[in-house]
Amino acid sequence: MKLTDKKPSLRVYLSLAFLIFSLVLIIIMWLFQSVFFDAFYRTVKTVQVERCADSISKNIEDEDLKSVIKETEEQNDMDISVYSVSEFMAANILTPVYAPHEFISTHSLINMSSVQKYYQKAEANGGKITEKSDSKLSLSPNKPNKITPPLEKESSQLLTCAIITDTEDAQYLVIVESDIAPVTSTVETLRVQLIIMTGFILLISIFIAVITSHYVSKPIHETTKKAKLLAQQNYDLTFSGGNYKELCELNDTLTFSAHELQKVDELRRELISNISHDLRTPLTMITGYSEVMRDIPGENNPENVQIIIDEANRLAQLVNDLLDISKLESGATAMQNTTLCLTDCIKDIFKRYTKLTEQEGYNIVFNYTEDAYIYADELRISQVLYNLINNAINYVGEDKTVIVNQTVRDSTVYIEVIDHGVGIEEENLPYIWDRYYKVDKEHKQAVVGTGLGLSIVKNILNHYDAQYGVKSSVGEGSTFWFSMKTIEKQKNP
Ligand code: ADP
Repeated sequence: MKLTDKKPSLRVYLSLAFLIFSLVLIIIMWLFQSVFFDAFYRTVKTVQVERCADSISKNIEDEDLKSVIKETEEQNDMDISVYSVSEFMAANILTPVYAPHEFISTHSLINMSSVQKYYQKAEANGGKITEKSDSKLSLSPNKPNKITPPLEKESSQLLTCAIITDTEDAQYLVIVESDIAPVTSTVETLRVQLIIMTGFILLISIFIAVITSHYVSKPIHETTKKAKLLAQQNYDLTFSGGNYKELCELNDTLTFSAHELQKVDELRRELISNISHDLRTPLTMITGYSEVMRDIPGENNPENVQIIIDEANRLAQLVNDLLDISKLESGATAMQNTTLCLTDCIKDIFKRYTKLTEQEGYNIVFNYTEDAYIYADELRISQVLYNLINNAINYVGEDKTVIVNQTVRDSTVYIEVIDHGVGIEEENLPYIWDRYYKVDKEHKQAVVGTGLGLSIVKNILNHYDAQYGVKSSVGEGSTFWFSMKTIEKQKNP
């Protein structure tokens, strides 16, 4: 049994997530609509009453005070009364400035004594008091109790806020009253509603969870099936489908990977056939010439021995290049960096071609104005230069001229290797740096090469973060270039 078989599927996770979410939602609703409902209602009422009292006391000198009060009363379903306070024989006399119509008509001592009490409480409490009481202050005694049904066990409460306001020449008392309706019956109704809602929410969430998980997991399943085919080296696949961005991206990436894997596979096959071809050719030559020399006495001459030596060298070169590439690509080669005179390095390589220039009429030119120093491994940089110059000579034009230019600008040295030979077609340019890539697929022996040179160059230059490239046009020749940071002579960074 695979480890993945033990793990729950995405469908299970999604359904669970939906259920948990719905349960949390239901719990929150229960808490707010049932447990905290009364406390909430009271807090909201208190804030409302206090806000109204504050607003009236701020507008106490307003000419339109009466209409402001009326409007506030109507909008908030509250009773508001305002009294002016005057002192008479060390006692505070409260005279109604504004009070509900009924109150004024039934103006009684009982009412006034309640108002007096509120004044005293507010004064003792720093000018403002808010309190609940079971009975009405009877500012409007005839007003029927609007909310409390007659059979309601819990009787209606009253919330009163009294504020003492001082103006420049008078003192006022503002009283705002509001009913607090009993919420028991409301909470009961909400509870029944909540039970029904809970059932509905659970059903809907299960339904959505099933639909969503189907919508999410089915296309993933499809992609997994195709990915398994990819693992069986079935590269001709297009991953499509997916109704959401992430899966579309995954499918695009997999399609891209399938194409890349296909290319790598083709390259691998080509590489094996090329290597075996290149190994077989010199081996056939060596065996053939050795047999001829053994069987025919007259053929045992230095020229034939030289051919055997040359072919053996070619074989060794091929094996060395292959080893170099794999070492460079795996990062196993440790670079022996030192301060290196690049100019001298080029001159040294030029010396190797003296014979070519003297005997075969090649014209190899090196243009430079000053010595350039870099911090690098001499052997590896020589390999870069040697490969580029050797290619230029191999593919040289009729003028048999190869030019190497060295320029130093802004602490950077630029090297160009120019030939006026066959050039490279534009469509082949991006591939020439690939391992074992040869423009000439026929693999003719006419041009000697392993197809690994530029790949070695690329690996080494990449190691030094150098810039490099090629400009080429068919029939006119090619210019291979690279640039590296220079350092001051004798300085090891
Ligand atoms: P090779 O050993 O075959 O030269 P390289 O990796 O050095 O392998 O080069 C890869 C291919 O790039 C060559 O086979 C050749 O087709 C092309 N190439 C490289 N340098 C030149 C050049 N100076 N002119 C024309 N073609 C070139």
